[in-house]
Amino acid sequence: MDGSGSAHGAASAAPPARADVVIVGGGIVGCSIAYHLAALGIRDVVLLERRQLTCGTTWHAAGLVPQLRATRNLSDLARYTSELFATLEHETGQATGFRRNGSVAVALNAERFEELRRSASAARSFGIEAAVLSPREVRDRHPLVDLTGVVGGLWTPNDGQTNPVDTTLALARGARARGVRILEGYAVDRILAEAGRARGVAWRFEGRDGAASGADQGTIAAGTVVLAAGMWSAALARPLGIRLALQAAEHFYVVTEAIGGLPRNLPTLRVPDEWAYYKEDAGKLLVGAFEPVAKPWGLAGIPRDFCFDSLPDDVDHFQPVLERAVERVPVLARTGIATWFNGPESFTPDDRYLLGETAEVRDLFVACGFNSIGIQSSGGAGKVLAEWIRDRRVPMDLPDVEVRRMHPVQGTRAYLADRTRESLGLLYAMHWPHRQPETARGVRRTAFHDRLVAAGACMGELGGWERANWYAPAGVEPRYEYTYGRQNWFEHSAAECRAVRDAVALFDQSSMAKFRVQGPDARAVLDRLSTASMDVAPGRIVYTQWLNPMGGIEADLTITRLADDDFLVVTSAGSQVRDLAWLREGIPPQSRCVVTDVTAGLPMLGLMGPRSRELLGQLSGDPFDDRDFPFGTSKEVEIGCAVVRASRITYVGERGWELYIPADVALHVYERIVAAGAAFGLAHAGFHAMNACRTEKGYRHWGHDIGVEDTPIEAGLGFTCAWDKPSGFVGREALRAVRARGVPTRRLVQVRVEDPRALLFHDEPILLDGRVVGIVSSGAYGHRLDASLGMGWLRMDEPITRELLREQRFEVEVAGSAVPATLQLEPFYDPGGLRVKG
Ligand SMILES: Cc1cc2nc3c(=O)[nH]c(=O)nc-3n(C[C@H](O)[C@H](O)[C@H](O)COP(=O)(O)OP(=O)(O)OC[C@H]3O[C@@H](n4cnc5c(N)ncnc54)[C@H](O)[C@@H]3O)c2cc1C
Repeated sequence: MDGSGSAHGAASAAPPARADVVIVGGGIVGCSIAYHLAALGIRDVVLLERRQLTCGTTWHAAGLVPQLRATRNLSDLARYTSELFATLEHETGQATGFRRNGSVAVALNAERFEELRRSASAARSFGIEAAVLSPREVRDRHPLVDLTGVVGGLWTPNDGQTNPVDTTLALARGARARGVRILEGYAVDRILAEAGRARGVAWRFEGRDGAASGADQGTIAAGTVVLAAGMWSAALARPLGIRLALQAAEHFYVVTEAIGGLPRNLPTLRVPDEWAYYKEDAGKLLVGAFEPVAKPWGLAGIPRDFCFDSLPDDVDHFQPVLERAVERVPVLARTGIATWFNGPESFTPDDRYLLGETAEVRDLFVACGFNSIGIQSSGGAGKVLAEWIRDRRVPMDLPDVEVRRMHPVQGTRAYLADRTRESLGLLYAMHWPHRQPETARGVRRTAFHDRLVAAGACMGELGGWERANWYAPAGVEPRYEYTYGRQNWFEHSAAECRAVRDAVALFDQSSMAKFRVQGPDARAVLDRLSTASMDVAPGRIVYTQWLNPMGGIEADLTITRLADDDFLVVTSAGSQVRDLAWLREGIPPQSRCVVTDVTAGLPMLGLMGPRSRELLGQLSGDPFDDRDFPFGTSKEVEIGCAVVRASRITYVGERGWELYIPADVALHVYERIVAAGAAFGLAHAGFHAMNACRTEKGYRHWGHDIGVEDTPIEAGLGFTCAWDKPSGFVGREALRAVRARGVPTRRLVQVRVEDPRALLFHDEPILLDGRVVGIVSSGAYGHRLDASLGMGWLRMDEPITRELLREQRFEVEVAGSAVPATLQLEPFYDPGGLRVKG
């Protein structure tokens, strides 16, 4: 059969020839997307499930529905899920089993307790109820727990639990009631794509039990395809050249026999230091785990016929969890285990799910890789994805889960097989600041990698890149020792910052993403996308944002005009895939404009500090003085035998140059710099030092300080806008409306806490008279100022002016303690920019 497909059974149940949206996969996530599309009025939706709803991973989930996640928006989505679950039964008439029992997390050491206290503070800024507990209060909340070693706990009363199967059926029922067609027994064989856009799906009827011959086949043409096929998603995406970064792993729990007198409203207990959670389950206890070394599964592919299946028990693997569990919850020692359960779930390299339109194929959206929080995420993810599909843009800041954050190397089988051993356990591992993964390392190495290691670099990982975060002096091992206080690299990084301030430091910034934009229409394309004007002379560097039509910041980058028809766009390493896609999507059809990603072929070194001028002058023989080489300009210079592009710009707030070096001469240039640098006090410096310096200088970071919900006006970046340029720019009208409202009442501000021991990381609440009025977006210790600093978003009832900030007495809550803080609009370091431009 072809085209409209076959009528293998009742005609009404056959897939239609076309639909607005086709969803692949009938787990809780696919059903939630269907439900939310329909709620938005998008009802020409078909959901195809290859066997039966919930038969993949959803049916065996433990069903925990907590609210508190790592960021405000992810918490908002999780909270929305629980609010939806609380009303779904009433709305649809389908029981869900949802109830709010609350949960108790306990800490077995001081650092974990600090983590819980920091979580409580973050909860406060997210508007989620949470209370820190003493050991006795832990026991009051959860009578079964043994308090040996318990330092304290955290109580989140609105956490819930649900029956995943019934809840999925309720979502499906709600979707159907609004017209969505949900068809079971239909497997999608292929996603159809043409000219870089999804065009529909090809299906095959296999039957709800898989017994059908598969001879009935057809296609559905659709404007939007949504891939919500759980652990099967990667295989469906691969033929389109998309490497989705998810991998199945074995995931375990046990369920006891009935325990007499177990209260139905027993809160969930989490003991992350013992990797375990405990949940009341129909009069029994369910004990599950997020163990630190996991077992990837289905490395050779996920079986097609998997349906309500489980994986073989592995008692040895679960034993270490159980041994601790019987001590922690002693009733287990007297109770038999009725069920050993092992089921597959998909995990991603950073333990965050994958959501949104793919960079490779437009109109193809994904929602998968849920890292064992797919039930609690389903409502929020479904809602947000439905809005995304309707508006064709992300409706809120979601950099942590956008599928475009992942880099192609992270979707390779080898990377995933290795990383998944580690990523399953991350949910309960210590969420240390600056924590680096231990698996799947050494994948993307810069041209300088081995030299930096020899110089003492301690590498971190970002998007597969190995990046020097700090340098260990001779005799010190380049290894992290994590803590919530000052970590072991604090003093070494401080020394690097002093070199930046007093002499010159070398940063390997090769991981920055670089795109060449060329052609007769290159300027027009970039002008339309950028807030700043591109109508500048060749050799000028322009700092700009790219906005969405609402005026929200989609990208924050620099663009250098190399020639009339040739530009170099530079953005952060993490934004490589996302910004490249935004750029390509922003090229109107028929434009004579070509974009090439030149990241890998163009290593980059930053030479930053007051003596950079002398060093470069000596190395090159070309003039680097202010008259010949002013700030914001770029030109080719010679260093040794290499021709290098030097750009006078900085992310650390000192005089400095970024050197863009062809890969073949990269080591030659490095060697020349290092050899000559000794006389100028040259030091190697890493990304921790860079982060400290940029925080002192108030340089924003997309994905942390600014994002799609923030306009340049509120972010203090209005100066980049060329309001009257003839091309206009995407977002200008929306931005004009923001500007017309006058001084904003929501504003990005610089933060200094008066106690230098109180370190800021992110999401600490900003208080005024004890009320939450803002939230820290990023933090770092500023070594040039010897102060604990951050940036944050403030929301007030009145315009946020310098005077207001000066007059009010703000505080920042750090791990439960309110610390006095100074807030201001200007950077704390060199507010006049004299050190940069001098
Ligand atoms: C032991 C365990 C405990 C868990 N506990 C919790 C918990 O307490 N809380 C929580 O939030 N999460 C929990 N989870 C995670 C949760 O179960 C998952 O994140 C969630 O079910 C994922 O839903 P999904 O819809 O993405 O995937 P799935 O449920 O796997 O749905 C995908 C569907 O796509 C279908 N499909 C696949 N290929 C095709 C195709 N070609 N054509 C058509 N259909 C196709 C499959 O048949 C399947 O039904 C747990 C997971 C496990 C394994």
